[in-house]
Amino acid sequence: MILEHRAAAPFFKNGFVVGCEETREGVIVDPGDEVDQLLEAATGHGLSIKTILLTHAHLDHITGVGRAKAALGVPTWLHRDDNFLYEQVVEQGQMFGLRVERQPPVDHFYEGEGPLRFGRYVVRVRHTPGHCPGGVCLAVSRLRGDAASASAQGATADKSGQGREEDPPTVLLVGDTLFAGSIGRTDLPGGDLPTLLRSIREVLFSYPDDTVVWSGHGEATTIGREKRSNPFLI
Ligand SMILES: [Zn+2]
Ligand SMILES: [Zn+2]
Repeated sequence: MILEHRAAAPFFKNGFVVGCEETREGVIVDPGDEVDQLLEAATGHGLSIKTILLTHAHLDHITGVGRAKAALGVPTWLHRDDNFLYEQVVEQGQMFGLRVERQPPVDHFYEGEGPLRFGRYVVRVRHTPGHCPGGVCLAVSRLRGDAASASAQGATADKSGQGREEDPPTVLLVGDTLFAGSIGRTDLPGGDLPTLLRSIREVLFSYPDDTVVWSGHGEATTIGREKRSNPFLI
């Protein structure tokens, strides 16, 4: 899996390029003010970007959608419950004293878990509300048929006995639901703390401990580390 992350002022929010090392197909996730760096990274890897996927519609995660669409001509996906935020991006900017441009309309709303595909990878969409109503976790893994080759590369089987042992390892792009050592804020419109905690415990913590987690801000972590040491969750 090719995975690049970039962040830029003022929010230092992570945008991602995720690509298939074999087919060179990829996706861009949460393009914000670092969008030009993401486009450069995609070009650097020779990736053909198929879609723009959004974890949620807070302004820091969507201000690069227009530029990405103009450069790539690909559709944007979002959870329907966040479309009200997406359409209020100008007003969200005003809350932070920023002048933000309206973004082109979302092309598709996620339906169930998808899955969406690029190259030999699959993206499963898991609804994880709480930070905002339409927050999702994007769970990226190699297609099931490749489980054997994935484990040959050192992947470990799930020990929780939830029937995932045939699944290849997954990388979670969790947006602002969970951070290394912290959790998402719930004081913005549509936020709710009990809902957020339920999303983390029931959805994110259902993945194996060694699952890598990339958040919307800061460094990567793992499910196991957050289960053991996140002060908001132990
Ligand atoms: Zn957010
Ligand atoms: Zn954010």
